[in-house]
Amino acid sequence: MYSIDKNYDIIVAGSGPAGACAAMSAASGGRRVLLLERKPVPGVPVRCGEGIGHQGLALSFEPRPEWIKSTVTRARMLSPSGIGVEIGNVGKSYILDRERMDADLVKMAVEAGAEFRASSPAVWAGETSSGRYSVICSNNPNSPTEGQTEFEASCLILADGVESRLARYFGWDTALRLEDIETAAFARVEAAGIEGDCCTFYTGNSVAPGGYLWVFPRGAGAANVGLGVIGSRCRSGLPRKLLLDFIKRTYPGGRVTDLHCGGVPVAKWVRPLVRGAVMLVGDAARQVNAINGAGLAYSLYAGRLAGTVAAGAFRGDGNLCRKALLGYQREWAKVFGKQQERSFALKEFIMSADDAFLDRIADSLSKEPPGKLSYLRVFMRTFSSRPLLLLKAFKLFR
Ligand SMILES: Cc1cc2nc3c(=O)[nH]c(=O)nc-3n(C[C@H](O)[C@H](O)[C@H](O)COP(=O)(O)OP(=O)(O)OC[C@H]3O[C@@H](n4cnc5c(N)ncnc54)[C@H](O)[C@@H]3O)c2cc1C
Repeated sequence: MYSIDKNYDIIVAGSGPAGACAAMSAASGGRRVLLLERKPVPGVPVRCGEGIGHQGLALSFEPRPEWIKSTVTRARMLSPSGIGVEIGNVGKSYILDRERMDADLVKMAVEAGAEFRASSPAVWAGETSSGRYSVICSNNPNSPTEGQTEFEASCLILADGVESRLARYFGWDTALRLEDIETAAFARVEAAGIEGDCCTFYTGNSVAPGGYLWVFPRGAGAANVGLGVIGSRCRSGLPRKLLLDFIKRTYPGGRVTDLHCGGVPVAKWVRPLVRGAVMLVGDAARQVNAINGAGLAYSLYAGRLAGTVAAGAFRGDGNLCRKALLGYQREWAKVFGKQQERSFALKEFIMSADDAFLDRIADSLSKEPPGKLSYLRVFMRTFSSRPLLLLKAFKLFR
């Protein structure tokens, strides 16, 4: 048995960075907002390397000291045979405390006026005959009807992460090609020899086939160490095995805690981002940098943008103007559309590169002044022997 308990202007499903930011902005815009989260504690367990550039974070929030575990100013990439490329223009970057940040973002949404419900997985969503949307939550996986609660709203914001099940009820095909998903394994490591101010990236098919391995220092001799293997080259248990082998080899005697696995979408961003009055944000919308799998800065920005646009789409009489919601996609395409296309194009190529080719790129990049490395240079080096691809690259950077 279930009943319609509550009516809202906007329901946000998923309280990760995208959903919490969407709820915060929508509630700040004066709307009645419900934020649903399937887990009992938002952000736990952490499934993230926790790296973010200052610029990416500052686009949405003034960085708070309590969100930052360490600050890094250098990055280094190591090719399969060990050729090192110093990347000098990374700017200031942070390794975050995501557990703390995710909790704070939800708190900020609640302070802005959103109602938050933890342990509330949305199991179904659809349009009602009156043109509103119904969302059913159930915390009883063993029964289709027991323990269900139904909510209604004029607008939905789906921020349910990489799996993005809810989007399918509205006609989005969220299945990912094996080439567009990385299976990641990651852990916290405490060990001697972790450099405190440098992020290190390892490439090579014996380290992380079609992906890369990262070491992000967390301060006090600890680091987030993880790797992603492209779906088309992954088999059960491979990412975890490769990760543990690397840690054993690189940090003998190191202490490993919090080992988890997770999926990273490295796909094109979903179009359309809005159907009817349903908006997709964050990993659910594949708003991710396909080259490195970073989605945090995009999720924060997209969440705030979607929440602000949704709140502004309500007229003075309380009715929603659905057309106004399209401003979300327009703005996203303008600010990040091209950037995402470039990173996707580069990923498509690098994913299939063999070790000898990765070595050749690293060798030529290692001769570039570190401060001058950019996507364009990487493209030029990568495609210099292939005129057709070079032409394609130029078109992307026009
Ligand atoms: C291993 C790994 C390492 C990463 N490292 C980095 C990094 O270093 N830097 C970076 O920028 N990005 C990184 N990312 C990507 C980054 O974590 C994501 O892009 C970001 O978390 C996306 O935020 P989101 O809010 O869209 O989704 P999520 O953070 O996944 O949040 C989705 C939320 O929705 C909830 N949910 C799901 N289904 C439902 C439902 N039916 N009902 C209610 N709630 C639901 C989930 O429980 C979750 O809380 C990494 C990802 C992985 C997997």
